[in-house]
Amino acid sequence: MTNAQLTDRDLAHIWHPCTQMKDHETLPLIPVKRARGVWLEDFDGRRYIDGISSWWVNLFGHAHPYITEKLAEQAATLEHVLLAGFTHEPAVRLAERLCALAPGGLNKVFFADNGSSAVEVALKMSYHAHLNAGEERPLFLSLTNSYHGETIGALSVGDVELYKKTYEPILIRSLQTPVPKDGSEEAAEEAAVALEAILREKGRDISALIVEPLVQCAGYMHMYHPRYLTLAKRLCESYGVHFIADEIAVGFGRTGTMFACEQAGVRPDFMCLSKGLTGGYMPLAVVLTTDDIYGRFYCDYLEFKAFLHSHSYTGNPLGCACANAVLDLFENEKTLETNREKSRWMAELMAPFAELPNVKEVRQRGMIGAVELQGYDFKERVNLKIFDHCLERGVFIRPLGHVLYFMPPYVISRQEMQKLVGAAYEAVKAL
Ligand code: PMP
Repeated sequence: MTNAQLTDRDLAHIWHPCTQMKDHETLPLIPVKRARGVWLEDFDGRRYIDGISSWWVNLFGHAHPYITEKLAEQAATLEHVLLAGFTHEPAVRLAERLCALAPGGLNKVFFADNGSSAVEVALKMSYHAHLNAGEERPLFLSLTNSYHGETIGALSVGDVELYKKTYEPILIRSLQTPVPKDGSEEAAEEAAVALEAILREKGRDISALIVEPLVQCAGYMHMYHPRYLTLAKRLCESYGVHFIADEIAVGFGRTGTMFACEQAGVRPDFMCLSKGLTGGYMPLAVVLTTDDIYGRFYCDYLEFKAFLHSHSYTGNPLGCACANAVLDLFENEKTLETNREKSRWMAELMAPFAELPNVKEVRQRGMIGAVELQGYDFKERVNLKIFDHCLERGVFIRPLGHVLYFMPPYVISRQEMQKLVGAAYEAVKAL
């Protein structure tokens, strides 16, 4: 089998995500035969560094022997059982461990199977919790430039025009409050003033504010100061509005702490996790919440207050086993500590970008590095040029418009990081 053969078979049937399929008349698909560590290998024997952890999920790289072993063990023991009326050890252990790791007070875990569904769960649960307490709050609030997924509810609270505009007429009701315009503390305070104005006017109608803590990843890796989270949480509390932390992209060490909220000392009412949760092995998601929220649904069945939401694969044991293996790796390999060193390499290696005339800003938080370019028109599709250039040099990155970024697996070595950032630097220089 060659790349070309598999590509032909693929294009006969597969409609790819987030893709204008006509692009593939000229842009080659990359059929991946196998992968190990940070490396992807195609059917023609070419290797590429996975510079974005395959949409930010493969925290410990590909085919990690330990996760693979735990997955195989679980598959041979119990591959699946429904979670309504049944339970299993991997889910129980995972729930215990997540509650122990999360900001204090998040003591209940609701399972889902992908990031968007976790967001749907949090939105529905928030609205329903208010309703069960006798309050009707039909609106949600989110930040400008936010991204929370592609299902109708998640898209409604997002604000990236490219994904949202077409579907406006069929979305649920949401408002956007300005995200801090940059990483400074002043910008955080300014945005909090705007938030307060909205809450003063509409607070009684709003169920929850949903935010991507510290980094709006799909929103061009826009980064803001933790102070905003502290202020926003405080404001939400005073207006009885729930605070939902969507840590789907930034959770599990990506920003330097296990969860990004920790950097602001914030305990959300709901925390959504997915992506890195299983290290890229299985689709799984969770929503953590408080005993208080849980208590609002707890009553006799005929009071009809239960949260009757489910997905067939909810709490799948294979996913839970992988997630437990991921948490083992965090403990055994002191990942947060070693990442501090790796973040420093990233900073050092990215510094030269700042000297290039077509670079507007270089920014970083933990293991996320971003380079924003200037002077290009949207129609030039500069992202494809960078993508191509890097691919030629054995590096896979997927720039978001005029922003290229690195979100490598945590197992990356210094040499591999040099190759990754170096290829992107050459690409930007050659534009
Ligand atoms: N929230 C955030 C912050 C995300 O980055 C994403 C995915 N990029 C989602 C939600 C949606 O997750 P999924 O793609 O698993 O539906």
